Amino acid sequence: MGSHKIISEDLEEISNEIRDISHKLNGETIFIAGGAGFLGKYLVSTLDYLNKNSLEKPCKVIVADNFITGLERKIEENENISVIKQDISKEFILEGDVDYIIHAASLASPKFYNKFRLETINAGFLGTRNLLEIAKEKNVKNFLFFSSSEVYGDPDSKFIPTPEEYRGNVSCNGPRSCYDEPKRIGETLCVNYGDIHNIPIKIVRPFNVYGPGMRLDDGRVIPNFVSSAINGEKITMYGDGDQTRTFCYISDATSGWIKALLSSESERIFNIGNDDQEIKMKHLGDLVLGLVGNKNSSVEYKEDKMGVYGNKSDPSRRCPDLTKSRNILHYNPKVNLVFGIKRFIKWAEDEILVNKK
Ligand code: UDP
Repeated sequence: MGSHKIISEDLEEISNEIRDISHKLNGETIFIAGGAGFLGKYLVSTLDYLNKNSLEKPCKVIVADNFITGLERKIEENENISVIKQDISKEFILEGDVDYIIHAASLASPKFYNKFRLETINAGFLGTRNLLEIAKEKNVKNFLFFSSSEVYGDPDSKFIPTPEEYRGNVSCNGPRSCYDEPKRIGETLCVNYGDIHNIPIKIVRPFNVYGPGMRLDDGRVIPNFVSSAINGEKITMYGDGDQTRTFCYISDATSGWIKALLSSESERIFNIGNDDQEIKMKHLGDLVLGLVGNKNSSVEYKEDKMGVYGNKSDPSRRCPDLTKSRNILHYNPKVNLVFGIKRFIKWAEDEILVNKK
């Protein structure tokens, strides 16, 4: 996966950002559920990069994925990286020692979690329980759970930027609930297993992470706008386009996950995102059109038939409060929106060309 220039540069950047702590991975074994997904793949590629460039003793990486949305054959196996096909919502046995467990298995795109609702619930609920059972048996150094900024639902505007302490404004039976509620119960399982069985726990809450390696048919706003603009098609704007998001480029986010994974602080829960440029979707549309520069493309306002977007279940604003991540993890996102989207466009243009061949 690291063969594209943009991705290779990202991996180098991540490796620099974590240079003071990456030695903790020397010779360790890391199990990554959901390692074929967008976030998981960047993690696996980073560990592979560290093995080849900086670790004295390589780490072993075991990737598990059911490939429901992650694409098979995108991860190259080697002497230190192995891939197993496993649905983590089914109980399973993991042989050998494991030092770190990372649970990044989920369906984060509304398009896909709407299509696979029960699988999404199972990954967050049963999957988390099963992995925590394994963590208990293996005596891990840390268990990292990928939660979501969706645990905040549609935050009250008094809580924008949103700190980790905010309890959320979430529907338990709306169109997004099959994603949001398993993330919430997943967190509940983590903190209770952590307390009862003495398992070190870290929980990260990603805020709209984007970058190379996302499926171009993922449906989320950046890949959707960018691929439509490149292809000269209309970009679809749901609702009035006044809803806002903040976007975090994948290299910043990956440094954040690794800082949380390797943290020995007692603090457990961290927002990971970018608090720099909260932007309305209609302005994001203009920005993408301007950066891609394809005169055949324009904006089309549309109603979303799934019901997850553009109505009252679509959060109207989202922006993280990063005080805790900055202070405790020394997390420091650097990639601004225009720079990050330009990188994504470059990668997506090449990806579209390769797929056309
Ligand atoms: N959105 C849009 N057109 C698209 C995809 C998304 O207008 O083709 C809007 C959507 O209504 C939402 C925002 O972009 O307000 C972010 O959507 P995304 O799926 O990327 O993430 P999430 O809603 O989960 O934050």
